[in-house]
Amino acid sequence: MKTGTGSGVMTAIASDRLELGAGHEVVRTTATQCWRHLREADGIDWLILDQTDASTNRIEPIMLEELDQLLAEAETNRPKGLVIRSAKRNGFIAGADIAQFRGVRDAAELTAVLRRGHAVLDRLAALRVPTVAIVHGFCLGGGLELALACRHRIAVPNASLGFPEIQLGLHPGLGGTARLTRLIDPLDAMTMMLTGRPKNARAALRAGLVDAVVEERHVMAAVRAALSGTIKPRGWRWRPALLNLSPVRRFAGPRMRAAANKRARPDHYPAPEALIRLWEKHGGSFAAMKAAELPSFAALLVGDTAQNLVRIFFLRQAMSKTDKRTAIGHVHVIGAGAMGGDIAAWCAYRGFRVTLADTSLKALGGAMKRAGDLFRHHYRDRHDRVKLRDAFDRLVPDPRGLGVECADLIIEAVPENLDLKRKIFAGIEPRMKPTALLATNTSSIKIEDLCNGLARPDRLVGIHFFNPVARMPLVEVVSHKQATPETLSAARAFVVALDRVPAAVKSAPGFLVNRTLMPYLLEALLAFDEGTAAETIDRAAETFGMPMGPIELADYVGLDICLDVANVLAQNLADPLPKTPDWLAAKVKRGELGRKTGKGIYDYKDGKPQKRAGQKAPEPELTDRLILPLINACVACLREGVAASEDVVDGALVFGAGFAPFRGGPLRYARTRGIADVTAALDRLAALHGERFKPDPGWQTLGA
Ligand code: NAD
Repeated sequence: MKTGTGSGVMTAIASDRLELGAGHEVVRTTATQCWRHLREADGIDWLILDQTDASTNRIEPIMLEELDQLLAEAETNRPKGLVIRSAKRNGFIAGADIAQFRGVRDAAELTAVLRRGHAVLDRLAALRVPTVAIVHGFCLGGGLELALACRHRIAVPNASLGFPEIQLGLHPGLGGTARLTRLIDPLDAMTMMLTGRPKNARAALRAGLVDAVVEERHVMAAVRAALSGTIKPRGWRWRPALLNLSPVRRFAGPRMRAAANKRARPDHYPAPEALIRLWEKHGGSFAAMKAAELPSFAALLVGDTAQNLVRIFFLRQAMSKTDKRTAIGHVHVIGAGAMGGDIAAWCAYRGFRVTLADTSLKALGGAMKRAGDLFRHHYRDRHDRVKLRDAFDRLVPDPRGLGVECADLIIEAVPENLDLKRKIFAGIEPRMKPTALLATNTSSIKIEDLCNGLARPDRLVGIHFFNPVARMPLVEVVSHKQATPETLSAARAFVVALDRVPAAVKSAPGFLVNRTLMPYLLEALLAFDEGTAAETIDRAAETFGMPMGPIELADYVGLDICLDVANVLAQNLADPLPKTPDWLAAKVKRGELGRKTGKGIYDYKDGKPQKRAGQKAPEPELTDRLILPLINACVACLREGVAASEDVVDGALVFGAGFAPFRGGPLRYARTRGIADVTAALDRLAALHGERFKPDPGWQTLGA
C-alpha cells in the first residue's frame, strides 16, 4: 500500500487515510497504481487520485483503466455516494499527458484509444450512484471532462476549470464538447473551448459549471449536502436545450466563425472551425455530438498543426528546464526607458524587489506609470487588491542608484552606446555585492567588448529581453568566453522565475533572433523600395503564418532601431545583407520612426497602421523571398554555434519573433518542406536577386 500524500491543501486527506473528523470512520482502504479507494463507515466511497512519481495528476490510459475497474466495483457494491478528488497539492487533474500526443499519426489507432476513454467516462456518467467531483487548483482538459461526467462538481476557491486544448490545435476529445454544451449556456461553453480561457471557481459557479464553491474545511459537509440533495446540480435546465436548437446554431455558428477567423486563419489553425462545425451540425443531439467529436479530435491530432504545436509545447518546457531555483531576490535596473522601465515592472510583478535608476526623472516617472498600468491590468479583480499593493511596494524608483549595493542582479538598459555602458559598469562594479550578477540588455554590442575594463568579467552575462517585455516570452541568455557556468545557470534560473523562456545563445552580432530577423525585414524594405506595396508584402508574410507582416513589424520595432541593428550587422557580419534603402535613414532623421511616432512606412491612427485596401495579392515567390533568407540565417547561426541545436533555433524564433507556431519553427518548416526544395528555391532567388540568397554551407550538414 502506498503511503503519503502530495496534498497540503486538504485537511481531510492525510497519509493514506481519509481523516474525516469525528464521526467519520474509514472502514476499508485499497490502492491501485493511480487511485486510493476509501470507504466510510456510513457508506460513502472516495476515489483519491494520486499518480505515482508525478507532482500533477494527468489523464492517461492506465489511470482510466483503473477507474473503470473501480466503477465496476461501485456498480456491484452501490455505495451511498462516490466522491472523486485528487491528493495532489496543485490541483485535480491538469489535463491529458501531452507526451501521449507526440508523433501520433495513425488516426484509426488513436480513435480506438479515445473510444476506450469515452467508454470509461460514459460508465461514470451512467453510474446509478450519486457522484461528486471535488475540484481544487487545475481542473483542465481531460480533468474537466472527468469532472463533467460526475453528477455534482464542488469547487474550492482556488479552482481553475477550463479546456485549453485549442492552444495545441485541438478541441476536447473525451466527450467534453457534448457534456459542456449540455450543462451550461452553449454559447458560453463554445467561447470557453474556442478561447481556451479557464474559469475561476466563482465564474464557474455563475456559469453553472460547478454546484457550489466551499472552503476546504467545508468540503465534507458539502459532499453530504450534495448527496442528500441540499446542494442541487446548478447546470441550466432550459437554456442549453433552447440555445442548442438548430435555428440558434445556424444563427450563432457563423458569428463564432467570424470571430475565430479574426484570431487565426482556419487553413493554419483548423481546430476552431472543426469545433464550430461539430456544434453547428450535431449540437442538437448529445449522442451525435459525442460520437462526431471522436473522429474530429483524431483528425486534428494527427494533422501537422497539432503535431507542430505539441512540439512547441515541449520546446518551451525543455528550454525552461532548470535544476535550480533562483537565488536572486533584489534586482537593480539601470535605465528606465522603453526596455529598462518595462523590465523593472515585469520583475516586480513576478515577485522580485526592484530598484529602478535613471538620470532622467521624467523617464523614471513614465516607467512608474507604465508599471502601474501593468499591475492594474493583471490585478483587475477586487480580490487581488493586496497583490496589487504588494507589486507597487516592490518597485522603488531610485534616482541616486543606491540599490546597486544590495542588489543580487543588476540589469543595465541604457542607450546602445559602448562607452556609456562601460562608464556605468566602471562606476558600479566596486559597489556591487561580491555575489551579485551583472547583466546587459544590449541588442548588438558584443559582450566581450563590455568585459574589457571589468575586474570580474566572469559574472557578466547578456540578458536580452524583447519588446514589449510583458508580451514577448523569449529572453536570450547570452554567453561569452569568460562567463562561468554558474553565472549562466543563475541567469537562466532568473529568466525562468520571470516566466520567460530562456534561449542560450553565444555572443555574436545580433545574437540569434535579431541576426535572423534582420535579413527578412531588410528584404521586405528592399521589395518596398522596388515598388511592391507595403500591404502586399505584409500579406505575403501573414499568409505564410507570421503574426504581423515585416513592414508593420519594422514600424512596430521602430525604424531607428531597425537601422541601428542593420548597421551593426552590416559592419560585423560576413553574411551578405540586402542594402538598406537610403530613405530609411532620411525617415529616421525626420522622426518618422514608426508606430511610436504615429508615422513610419504606414501612417498610424489610434496605434493602428492605416493599410490601403485593394492592393495586389502577393506572388508566391514573394513569400520565399522574405522567409527563406530568415531560415538561411538560422542555418548559419547553427553552423557557427550561436545556438546549440535546431530546437533552440526553432523555439527562439517562435517565442522571440512569432515565427508561425503551427509550422513548428523555421527549421522544422524547412525539414517538412524538404531541404533540397528549400536550397533549390534559394538558388533560384540568388539567380534572380543576387548572391545574398546563396544557401549557407550549413545546409549540407542539415541535409545529411
Ligand atoms: P531608451 O533610450 O528608451 O532608454 C534608455 C534610458 O537610459 C533613458 O531613460 C535614459 O535617460 C537612461 N540613461 C541614459 N544614461 C544613463 C545613465 N548614465 N544612468 C542611468 N540611466 C541612463 O533605450 P531602450 O530602447 O530602452 O534601450 C535600452 C537598451 O536595451 C539598449 O541597449 C538597447 O539596445 C536594448 N534593447 C532595446 C530594445 C528595444 O526595442 N527598444 C529591445 C531589446 C534591447
